[in-house]
Amino acid sequence: MRVVLVGAPGAGKGTQAKYIAEHYEIPSISTGDIFRANIAEQSDLGKKAKAYMDAGDLVPDEVTIGIVRDRLAQGDTEPGFLLDGFPRTVRQAEALDDILSALDTPLDVVLELQVDDDEVVRRLSGRRTCRTCGHVWHVEFDPPSRDGVCDECGGELFQRDDDLPDTIRRRLEVYTEQTAPLVGFYDDAGLLRSIAAEGSVDDITTRAIDALELAAKS
Ligand code: AMP
Repeated sequence: MRVVLVGAPGAGKGTQAKYIAEHYEIPSISTGDIFRANIAEQSDLGKKAKAYMDAGDLVPDEVTIGIVRDRLAQGDTEPGFLLDGFPRTVRQAEALDDILSALDTPLDVVLELQVDDDEVVRRLSGRRTCRTCGHVWHVEFDPPSRDGVCDECGGELFQRDDDLPDTIRRRLEVYTEQTAPLVGFYDDAGLLRSIAAEGSVDDITTRAIDALELAAKS
């Protein structure tokens, strides 16, 4: 199963990516996670990406495409892969087509998680991440038992810089302008499947797997 997840920031791509990847036993590749790991390591790539991310803007295509090309060349992607947060521009989508054509491993399906803007703002502004284990909590929907402390490991919870209100608005604008056109791009290619990404996490996962199974059969 070779799959791309698309959807606005806060649509739940990261959460669903984890469950879908477990279900199909494939690696889940998140460009956002790769950038955040590089920022934590203070690598050159991290330094380059940080300013764009903090502003809610996209990291330039040349940088992002290179990272994905290298990642897809690794052996663990042989049984398939799930891309979470890439591509985010039509140029990245075209580059992905080229990369996969060269490997003779075309995409099976592009799954769109649909959610409305007000819900996105509620989800992102309440999100808190553990500094130690990376577990993601939500102050309203999935609160930890003690404010600011992770129930999984006792680590300190923080709010991602790009989940602050002004940056959330900017990320939504960027999504509408640069990423939403991918929906048409993949629809034209006959690869798009869309599901409502509202309700419980389990329900959304069931809907996602059903849509992927249907796509794999067609
Ligand atoms: P995410 O964790 O997917 O929400 O990504 C967080 C941030 O990383 C985004 O707001 C962008 O600044 C950057 N980023 C992640 N993936 C990409 C991509 N495919 N192209 C450009 N920037 C990206």
